[in-house]
Amino acid sequence: MTAYDDSNIFAKILRGEIPSHRVYEDDHAIAFMDVMPQAAGHTLVVPKSPSRNLLDADPQALTQLIPVVQKVAVAAKEAFAADGITVIQFNEPAAGQTVYHLHFHVIPRIEGVALKPHSGTMEDPAVLAAHAEKLRRALAR
Ligand code: AMP
Repeated sequence: MTAYDDSNIFAKILRGEIPSHRVYEDDHAIAFMDVMPQAAGHTLVVPKSPSRNLLDADPQALTQLIPVVQKVAVAAKEAFAADGITVIQFNEPAAGQTVYHLHFHVIPRIEGVALKPHSGTMEDPAVLAAHAEKLRRALAR
C-alpha cells in the first residue's frame, strides 16, 4: 500500500489552503460540494484523520465518519428532492480513485436520470454555491 501523502487536494482543503463549498464540519469530518458533480448536489464527505482510502483507514475513524455520511445523505435527499441517494467510495487507481485522501461521494438521484461521468465537467461556481446553500439549510433543520 502506498503511504498517505498530505499534499493531496483534500488535505489542502482540510487545512484551508484552497477553497471549497463547505456544507458541514464537526470534530471528525467535513463535507463540501464536488466541483465536477455527477448529479446536482453531489457532495464529498472527508474525514479529518489522514488515510489514503478505506483500505488503510483507522476503523475507529470510520465509526465517526459513517454517521456524517448518513447525515449528509438524508439532508441531500431532502434538499434536492431526490428519489434516492447513491454513495460511492473508490480505492486505488484501478478502482477509479483520483484523490488520495479517503472520501465518500453522496449523490442525489432522480428516478430515470443517469449519472454524469466521474470527474467529468467542472460546474459553474455560482451553481455550486447555490447548491451548497440549499444543503446547508437542510443540514441545519
Ligand atoms: P475519486 O478520488 O475518484 O473518488 O474522486 C475525486 C472527486 O473529487 C471527483 O469526483 C472530483 O470531481 C472531485 N474533486 C477534485 N478536486 C476537487 C476540489 N478541489 N473540490 C471538490 N471536489 C474535487
